[in-house]
Amino acid sequence: MIVGVTGGIASGKSTVARAFAALGVPWVDADDVAREVVEPGEPALVEIAARFGQRALLANGSLNRRALREIVFADPSERLWLESVTHPRIRERIIAHLERLQSEGAPYVLLVSPLLFESGQSEMVDRCLVIDVPESLQLARTAARDDVDDTQARAIVAAQMPRAERLARADDVIDNSGNEADLAVQVAELDRRYRRIAAKAPWGTRSQ
Ligand code: ATP
Repeated sequence: MIVGVTGGIASGKSTVARAFAALGVPWVDADDVAREVVEPGEPALVEIAARFGQRALLANGSLNRRALREIVFADPSERLWLESVTHPRIRERIIAHLERLQSEGAPYVLLVSPLLFESGQSEMVDRCLVIDVPESLQLARTAARDDVDDTQARAIVAAQMPRAERLARADDVIDNSGNEADLAVQVAELDRRYRRIAAKAPWGTRSQ
């Protein structure tokens, strides 16, 4: 069984993933995989370099993320092209990572993705777990963690999927407005439920 974990900026996705990991449940981070597929030597980076030339690369041959962001920001058709090159590879590799973890005996696995719904990755999972916090707390935790001011933090939150829409798509919700101990209680409760469901369900490596 695969549980997709999502939430807005600084909602606590990584903190939640670590809490599940402490109970023996591994995760795959979709952002890490998105970086992996454009590392030097990867076919996607070769294609990007062929299309945009040296301006898309840094001197050491790795991806110039900033330049690429500017290119696709200026031209939506280039964004579509880029997504057509990267998304299938990200998807393929996420599946490979998840299958490896399942075959290593995980009771179930997590796919942690800030854009679980927006990217269509929710289609790859059996359940969606949304980490929910009030916007005021999201802003406070963003400002405390990142080097951004309140205006920047508000702009990031405003550009993301609205809280109500995310919640409407959730199968399960963690309320992360309390402290880490409150969070651990909710994670332990969900873990018990997920183990029960995964043991019974006709999916994943258990049934194969
Ligand atoms: P992003 O998507 O922006 O990378 P995230 O959703 O993975 O963020 P975290 O990095 O887990 O969020 O948490 C954001 C910040 O809030 C961190 O500094 C973390 O330590 C803090 N935090 C998370 N949960 C709690 C909590 N329950 N109590 C106090 N601080 C918390």
